[in-house]
Amino acid sequence: MIIKSAEFQCSNTRTDKLPPPELPEYAFIGRSNVGKSSLINMLVQKKGLAKTSQTPGKTQLINHFLINENWQLVDLPGYGYAKTSKSNRGEWQKFISFYLRNRENLQCVFVLIDSRLDPQKIDIEFCSWLGENGLPFQLIFTKADKQSHVKSDQNVAKFRKSLLEIFEEVPMHYITSAETQQGRDEILNFIGDLNKS
Ligand code: GDP
Repeated sequence: MIIKSAEFQCSNTRTDKLPPPELPEYAFIGRSNVGKSSLINMLVQKKGLAKTSQTPGKTQLINHFLINENWQLVDLPGYGYAKTSKSNRGEWQKFISFYLRNRENLQCVFVLIDSRLDPQKIDIEFCSWLGENGLPFQLIFTKADKQSHVKSDQNVAKFRKSLLEIFEEVPMHYITSAETQQGRDEILNFIGDLNKS
């Protein structure tokens, strides 16, 4: 898919003010600092569209972007930031789980995983929750330029193995880098194909 346009639509702290569910929608989520904003900016080739931040976990916003005037990209707030208070975490869960379970135009949730790390409990638990709720998801391993291919592949294999303890089949994955644009075409082609079907 070629990206012809990418525009910020709206930010919401509540799920009752979201844009009408008319266009196919794809959500991106992951632990704070996983590289979500960088990945979104890389996908749509627009620096600064999604804000990269050095103070992770602050904003609890659902950000909508309109891409090519025919699909929506959604930037969901990061989870699992150590400095977020427990009550904040509770709010996060209610807000995001309501969005994910009720958004009728949501086609796929992309769960971002830091390719440098061993499987993290919070990521496994989140994937498990998506599975329990019947939500379609795929995995995006980020920051692959930060280590060797071998190391990324090993961490991907470990993560998939952990998921196989929960799921019979593990969803597709992409290995990406916001620096080298690795994985960009694969993700955009997947979205493009799903939009056509
Ligand atoms: P977010 O909190 O998940 O939105 O993460 P950000 O996109 O703000 O990225 C967190 C930090 O990781 C920033 O310092 C980014 O520059 C860096 N980063 C993100 N993606 C990559 C990547 O693919 N390669 C490298 N080398 N650094 C990255």
